[in-house]
Amino acid sequence: MNVLKFGGTSVANAQNINLVIDIISKASQKDNIAVVVSAFGNTTNMLLKTAELAAVKDEYYKSLLKEIENRHIQVVKDLIPVTEQSAIISHTKRLLNYLETLYEGCYLLRELTSKTLATIASFGELLSSFIISEVMASRQLNSVYKDSRELIITTESYETAQVLMKVTQENCRTFFKANDKQIVILPGFIAATEKGETTTLGRGGSDYTAAIIAAAVDAKELQIWTDVSGMYTANPRIVKQATPIPHISYQEAMELSHFGAKVIYPPTIQPVLHKEIPILVKNTFKPEQEGTRISKNPNGKQRAVKGISYIENISLLTLEGSGMIGIPGFSKRLFETLLAEQINIILITQASSEHSICIGINDKEASKAKIAIDETFAYEIASGKVDPILVEQQLAIIALVGENMKNHQGLSGKMFSMLGKNNVNIRAIAQGASEKNISAVINSEDAKKALNALHEEFFEEKVKQLNLFVTGVGNVGERFLAQLQQQQKYLREQLKLNIRVIGISNSRTMLFEEEGINLDKWKTLLSKGVKADLEKFREQVKSLNLRNSIFIDITASHEVSKIYGQYLQHNISVVTCNKIACASEYGNYQHLKQISQKYNAPFLFETNVGAGLPIIDTLKNLIASGDRIHKIQAVLSGSLNFVFNNFSNENTFHDVVLQAQKEGYTEPDPKIDLSGVDVARKILILARESGYILELDDIENNSFLPKETLETDTNEDFYTSLKTHEAHFQQIFKEANDKDCRLKYVATFEDGKAKVGLQHIPSDHPFYNLEGSDNIVLFFTDRYVAQPLLIKGAGAGAEVTASGIFADVIRIGKF
Ligand code: ADP
Ligand code: ASP
Ligand code: MG
Repeated sequence: MNVLKFGGTSVANAQNINLVIDIISKASQKDNIAVVVSAFGNTTNMLLKTAELAAVKDEYYKSLLKEIENRHIQVVKDLIPVTEQSAIISHTKRLLNYLETLYEGCYLLRELTSKTLATIASFGELLSSFIISEVMASRQLNSVYKDSRELIITTESYETAQVLMKVTQENCRTFFKANDKQIVILPGFIAATEKGETTTLGRGGSDYTAAIIAAAVDAKELQIWTDVSGMYTANPRIVKQATPIPHISYQEAMELSHFGAKVIYPPTIQPVLHKEIPILVKNTFKPEQEGTRISKNPNGKQRAVKGISYIENISLLTLEGSGMIGIPGFSKRLFETLLAEQINIILITQASSEHSICIGINDKEASKAKIAIDETFAYEIASGKVDPILVEQQLAIIALVGENMKNHQGLSGKMFSMLGKNNVNIRAIAQGASEKNISAVINSEDAKKALNALHEEFFEEKVKQLNLFVTGVGNVGERFLAQLQQQQKYLREQLKLNIRVIGISNSRTMLFEEEGINLDKWKTLLSKGVKADLEKFREQVKSLNLRNSIFIDITASHEVSKIYGQYLQHNISVVTCNKIACASEYGNYQHLKQISQKYNAPFLFETNVGAGLPIIDTLKNLIASGDRIHKIQAVLSGSLNFVFNNFSNENTFHDVVLQAQKEGYTEPDPKIDLSGVDVARKILILARESGYILELDDIENNSFLPKETLETDTNEDFYTSLKTHEAHFQQIFKEANDKDCRLKYVATFEDGKAKVGLQHIPSDHPFYNLEGSDNIVLFFTDRYVAQPLLIKGAGAGAEVTASGIFADVIRIGKF
C-alpha cells in the first residue's frame, strides 16, 4: 500500500482537484492507496481569522464565513454532476451550519478557547475530504471515506496535540486490514482525544497524518504532493536559483524542515524513519518531474551542503553576568523556567567563558520569557551578579544543512566570510557537534540577501550575480546598457557573471524590476515608469537589499554625487563617471573611500580620468605594488584636444567648440571643459589616487578664456562670447603656429603641486602627435625613471566611457 497526501494548493479549486483525481486514479491502479487531503488552500487561515473576529464581536466574520461557504459549494457545483448535487450540497451545508453555530458561540461569549479553535480549524479538512470523496465516488473510483478522528488519538493539548502512537497504530492497522476498497480517503490534520473531542496536529499537520498512517500500515512509500517539485536547495520563493534536491536523507530532511523548509511539516519524518519508508515529494502540477526522494541512504553523489533554510520571527535572549562564571546551575534554571512557560527553544549558544548564554526563541514568546527569566534570577539581578535578560527581536536563523558537512573543512569559514562580504551582521552562531547544521542568527531584513548569497556560494558556485541600478541614461548610459545587453551571454558563459539591471532612472522617470529589466525594451518600459526621485530610488535599492548591488552614476549631477556615501554604507557598490565627488573637498573623497572599505562596497571611478583608458586602475596597481609617483604629465581633456587639433586660421573657435559638443566630447556645460576646470578635477583625482592630499583650489589654472567668457552664466551667452572674442583665439593660434608648435592643454603634477594650462608643444614632444580627442598620461615613478609609463588612447566619447564603466562593473564582479 502507498499513502498519498495532497496539500492545500493541490486541492485549492475544481481545476486542481481534477489533477489530483488523475494522480489518484493512476496510483490506485498499481496498488491500494490511502489518500490524505488538506483543507482547500488558505481555508484554515480563513477559519481561524473568522474565529478571531467573532470573538471580538467584529461582524465582518459573517462575510468571511460566507466566503468560506461559497467556495466549498462552488467546488461541489463544478465537480459533481447536477443530478447528484443536492444530497452533497445539503451535507456540506449541514457542516457549515454547525460551523456557524460555533462562531455564534464565540461571538456571544466573546471567548475563544484552544479547544474551540481546534474544532473550528478541523472544518477545513472535514469539508475538503468529504467533497473530494464524493467526487471520487461520482467518478466510479473504488473508494471509501474514513474520518481520521476515529483512527488518530491524541492528548488534550487541542491545537498541537501529541499523538498517542500505540492506540493510533492499532486503530489504523485494524481499519486497513478490514478495508477492501482500493482507495481510502481521509482528512489530514485532524484527530481526537480518547474522549472523542476534536484536536489538530499543528499547522501544516496533514503531512504528519499521512506519515502516521504510512508507518502504521507499513506502506511502501509516502508521497507528499505539493505545489513545488520537491524539497529545494532553498525556499524557491525566496531564492529563484534554487533547484530540487533529488535524494536526501531523513536526517537532512528533518533538519531542513525544522529550520523552516515548510514543504514538509517537521514531525512527519519521525514515524516513517524507523520503518525506513521512503518519502517522495512531488509536484501536483508537474507530476512528470522527478521530485525529491527522502530515504535512509540516498543514492548518487552527495553534496556536502544539501540545503539552506531559515526561520523568521526569532528573538535572541541573552543572560549575561560575571556572577555566572564557574557556578553551576544557571543554565538549568534558565531552561527550567522556559519549560515551565512551555516556550520552545530553537537555538542555544554559550561561550566557553560561561559569561553569557544566548537562546533563540519565537518572537511571540519573547516578552513572556523575559518576565519569567527576570523573575527566576531576581535575586542575582538585584545583587548585580547577572544583568536583566537582554531581548533582541526581529531576527532570523539561517542554517546550512548536510550530513556530509562533517567531512569537509572550511564550510563554516566560507559561510561566514560570504555573509561578511555582504555586510550581513551575525548576532550568534550555533553548530551542533554532529555538524549536520551550521546556524547563524542575523537581522530579519538581511535574510533574503543572506540566503541568496549563500546559495550562490554553495550551489551556484560558478555564476555570480550582479544587480545594477543605473541613474542617467543619456548618451553614455544608453551605450552602456547596449554593451551590457550584447555581452550578457558572454559574461555568463565565460566570466560566470550574471549581470542584471534591476533599476533605471533618468531625470523624468524611474523603473524597477526585481527579476531584471528586459534590456530589449528598457526605453519603452522606462517611459512608462514612475516619476523619478533620487531619494525614492535610493530607498528602493536599499529595501530590495539584493546581494552584489551596484549603483551606477552616469550623470554629471551634483545631487547624485552627494548620495554615494548612503549607498556605500549599505554595502552597495558605487561606479561613477561623474567626477564631482572625487574632486570635492578632500575630506569627502577620503570619507567615501573609508566607508567603501568599511562596508566592503567597492567605489570605482575609472572613467573620471581618460574615459575608458585604464589610468586609475594602473595607478592603483603601481601604488599597491609599492611604487611611488613623483610626477604626472598629461593631456586629459578629450574635448580640448579635439578643439585645438581642429582649430586653425581657416575656421572659428566658436564653430569648433560647437562641433565638439555635438559629437559628445564635452560636458553638458562646455565651459567646464574650456575653462580648464574639468582638467583640474582630473589631475586632482590622479594626485589624490597617488596618495597626495590636495584641494581643487590648490591647483594653478591658467585659463586661456577671456574673463568675460569665463563669467557667462548660460551656454548661449558662452557661445556668443566665444564669437565676440574670435580675434583673441586666433592670436593664441598664431603664436603657437609661428613657433611650429601645437596647442595642448596640459596638466602637470610635480613635487606635490599641480597646474593646468595651455602650452606650446614642439614637434619632438610625445604630446605633439596626439590626435582627435585622445588623452595621454605619463607617470614618472620610482620604477619608471628615465622613460615614463605612458597610457594613450581615446579619452572621450560615449562608447569608450561606457566601456570604462563596464570595466568597473566587471572589476566588482571579480572582487
Ligand atoms: P502544502 O499546502 O502542499 O502542504 P506548503 O505550503 O505547506 O504546501 O509547502 C510548500 C511550500 O514550501 C512551497 O510552496 C515553498 O514556498 C515552501 N518551501 C520553503 N522552503 C522550501 C524548500 N526548501 N523546498 C521546497 N519548498 C519550500
Ligand atoms: N490545513 C492545515 C493548515 O493549513 C493543515 C495542512 O494543510 O497541512 O495548517
Ligand atoms: Mg504543508
